[in-house]
Amino acid sequence: MKRISYLIIIAVIFTLFVCGKCQRISEGSVKHAKQIKPTVTACFETEPMKNVSTQDDAADDPAIWINENKPDESLIIGTDKKTGLAVYNLQGKELHFYKHGKMNNVDVRYNFPYMGKNIDIVACSNRTDKTINIYKINSNGSLEQIETKGFEPVMKENVYGFCLGKDTENNKFYAFANSKKGEFVQWEFKESKNKIIEAKVVRKLQFNGKLEGMVADDISKTIFVGEEDACIWHTAINPKDQSINMIKSSNVETNKKIKADIEGLAIYRGNKNNNYLLASSQGNYSYAVFEFKPPYKYICSFRIVDSKQTDGAEETDGIEVTSVALNSQFKQGILVVQDGFNYDDKQLKSQNFKIVDWGKIQNIIDSESK
Ligand code: CA
Ligand code: CA
Ligand code: CA
Ligand code: CA
Ligand code: CA
Ligand code: CA
Repeated sequence: MKRISYLIIIAVIFTLFVCGKCQRISEGSVKHAKQIKPTVTACFETEPMKNVSTQDDAADDPAIWINENKPDESLIIGTDKKTGLAVYNLQGKELHFYKHGKMNNVDVRYNFPYMGKNIDIVACSNRTDKTINIYKINSNGSLEQIETKGFEPVMKENVYGFCLGKDTENNKFYAFANSKKGEFVQWEFKESKNKIIEAKVVRKLQFNGKLEGMVADDISKTIFVGEEDACIWHTAINPKDQSINMIKSSNVETNKKIKADIEGLAIYRGNKNNNYLLASSQGNYSYAVFEFKPPYKYICSFRIVDSKQTDGAEETDGIEVTSVALNSQFKQGILVVQDGFNYDDKQLKSQNFKIVDWGKIQNIIDSESK
């Protein structure tokens, strides 16, 4: 009898130990999520992250590269913050994987002058080497790393959130990174000697709380910065600007539809008046939509839920969106989001990204803004 009780105690301790490490769906978040009524479903999902276990918080942030000549062959590039960078097609099939370190956030820019040509680049914050990695994007989806100089640590804490920006008038390229301690740094980078990309720091800012999600809009020359448990800030891309402004409607204390953490940010530029700023609201498994003009009025929120083909998205980190007509299925573009709990037929798999037809989201925005 005594032996049985020992066994039970050991079993309980073991279960507690294992589950302590588990990624769990939070009941609080589920309760909050139920208050967000509009829902959509994903069309596709990417293959689960291969180099990690089902318990790992691994997939983090996506980017989209538009193949100008063959939009249907555009790419989704996603970070695995434990091991590297993955490249997928629009149906979620993995085409390439680069085991280059703990890649946190990733972004794309077009027409970077390099070796006498204009190339498209993808760049990401690499927490293994405490730097920024830059790659040339080939049209077959493969990535070629370019040597860089000048992205050495300039913050007290390691690089975390990251995005790219471009001053289109002066053809200047910028990289932005932040840290968990509220530090924000901006580099300008260009090709220098011997095929190397060289970066120099052009601005540093200090925010109060933990930062991560960022997105820069080259047209309005604005960069948006998410302070995870507070709100979204914006400042000019121009490094001379030292002012930071709060988007009041994104404040988690006053906007009950947004629950910390504020994570991924993305900008949808439609062809009419449909321009939006999107934010992942991690604490209620939803996405907040704002007008894309000051004062960035809040419009609505929606969730991505289970369908027969794909499960919904919960506890999303990074997001990315495009308005480009990619094919007959995605005439108004796509939204790509990270999924914290990827299930296939009720079985937990490692994390991945969901691919949603923007048309479905536009329908929600149209009916919610009536
Ligand atoms: Ca996560
Ligand atoms: Ca991104
Ligand atoms: Ca985060
Ligand atoms: Ca993240
Ligand atoms: Ca899911
Ligand atoms: Ca799934």
